[in-house]
Amino acid sequence: MIEDFNKFNDGTSVMADVCIIGAGAAGITIAREFLGTHYKVVILEGGGFDPEADSQKLFESEVVGLPHNSIHDGRARVFGGTTTLWGGQAVRLEDFDFKVRIWIP
Ligand SMILES: Cc1cc2nc3c(=O)[nH]c(=O)nc-3n(C[C@H](O)[C@H](O)[C@H](O)COP(=O)(O)OP(=O)(O)OC[C@H]3O[C@@H](n4cnc5c(N)ncnc54)[C@H](O)[C@@H]3O)c2cc1C
Repeated sequence: MIEDFNKFNDGTSVMADVCIIGAGAAGITIAREFLGTHYKVVILEGGGFDPEADSQKLFESEVVGLPHNSIHDGRARVFGGTTTLWGGQAVRLEDFDFKVRIWIP
């Protein structure tokens, strides 16, 4: 079931066992892990089904130091998240991706 919270009254409660914030690659992947289980899962997505300027504006930021526009231009606040900007490359993880890196706690 998909509901638009803009149509809900303030103070409306939604009951679930698991609450996932964000319907991007990570959020939807995690939610799918619960398919066929007894858990009731709610995904709260900040954007709509189409890009909306008001919602996207929340990603605006000021970067100090090295230039890095992707911090706001390269993130989509919409259902599907940043995957909506993809060309569609899906690369396999390699052993290196799972190696311990001493500089990462
Ligand atoms: C141009 C471009 C092309 C890319 N191409 C590829 C590719 O081909 N292959 C690849 O593997 N990767 C690609 N990537 C990287 C990939 O898109 C990201 O790594 C991936 O989308 C990150 O997934 P995520 O779920 O962590 O974040 P996102 O996909 O950004 O999703 C986060 C979601 O959370 C929502 N959200 C955020 N804050 C809140 C909040 N407070 N409340 C409610 N909702 C919230 C956002 O609206 C968004 O929907 C590309 C990135 C860019 C910018």
